[in-house]
Amino acid sequence: MLDDNAKAMITPLFRDYYGHIEIRDGHIGEREFGFGDFEKKISFRHYSFSNAALLKKYIVDNAPAFISYSPAFYQEPSGRPMEKKGWLGAELVFDLDAGDLHLECQKQHSRAWVCSNCLEKVKLETIKLIEDFLIPDFGFSTKEMSINFSGNRGYHVHVSCDPVYQLKSKSREAITDYISGKKIDPDWFFPSIGKKIAKLSGPKPSDPGWGGKLAGDVIKSINGGVDALVAIGIERKIAKALDAKKADVIFGISNGNWDKVAIPKKDEFWKGIILKISPNLGCAIDKNVTKDVHHLIRMPETLHGDTGLAGKSIGSVSELEKFDPMKDAIAFNSGEITVEAELPYKLIMMGNEYGPYSKQRVELPSYAAIYLILKRFAKLIV
Ligand SMILES: [Zn+2]
Repeated sequence: MLDDNAKAMITPLFRDYYGHIEIRDGHIGEREFGFGDFEKKISFRHYSFSNAALLKKYIVDNAPAFISYSPAFYQEPSGRPMEKKGWLGAELVFDLDAGDLHLECQKQHSRAWVCSNCLEKVKLETIKLIEDFLIPDFGFSTKEMSINFSGNRGYHVHVSCDPVYQLKSKSREAITDYISGKKIDPDWFFPSIGKKIAKLSGPKPSDPGWGGKLAGDVIKSINGGVDALVAIGIERKIAKALDAKKADVIFGISNGNWDKVAIPKKDEFWKGIILKISPNLGCAIDKNVTKDVHHLIRMPETLHGDTGLAGKSIGSVSELEKFDPMKDAIAFNSGEITVEAELPYKLIMMGNEYGPYSKQRVELPSYAAIYLILKRFAKLIV
């Protein structure tokens, strides 16, 4: 539980922040809103506001710790139960969270903590979603996408255009299966598998979609040498044989011929490799968020009640590449706050390092103090 003193200090800061933001998002009147306190992200939902001014008044009056809204549009967004809302359609949303990436650093720090490696890796995963899937495979343009920082340890990507609005949950789930690479069937790419013909023909790097990604990745590993091939699960003896005829093998795969080196049970062999590499080439997106057409998600530009950081909108992939949440998403940048901090990690914000602290009294810039208080690694001293 966040103590009352901390709540009393932070709530007016949230209120002041909301007094200054511009609510630009369209479809306000058709969205369902949900709000949370410092203990629960959504403690009440089914709210609606007919325009941005009314929404702004509500959030300034109440200064909620979390503000979420529906990517779905409804005739009656406040209708209950859900069937009474009159679903009109929904944006296609993707939620990427560092916690889903199974990173090595996460074995060193608790799930409650986010380190700079977590933030960097989830950013790369978001760029991969956009540049390897949404643009080339689905044909969405960057104008149809909006990207925002989640406020804690991830990013949200919203796709807004006519072809996606009416997609039902099943279709959205199929999109997540495609992007995650978890349900790839190698038979799709090796038409000769199971047929009694001599040559194994397979995907070329120039193929669209997964075929091209898989062929390109295998070529990349062949270029990387024996160790890179072993790393994708190829036994050393075969890796050496592929490496010895490297140029020939790469030329072959570039033209769809996967049979330049004699490999015992070649069909099964390449099937196994494809199954091993496809999840790594896929994207770690939260399937449930994408497929749930009634889900509520952080409203862009609003604050995250577990960090005090803002869910900043990011205008483009090149802006995302440069985006540093621990600098660019800082909402409270004036004054210092004294806290008792107990932090086993190092916090880096605005390029400065804070901690580790062993139950000690420290004066910190307000953004760092609020971050640690809300993450429960520090207590406000009054
Ligand atoms: Zn980490």
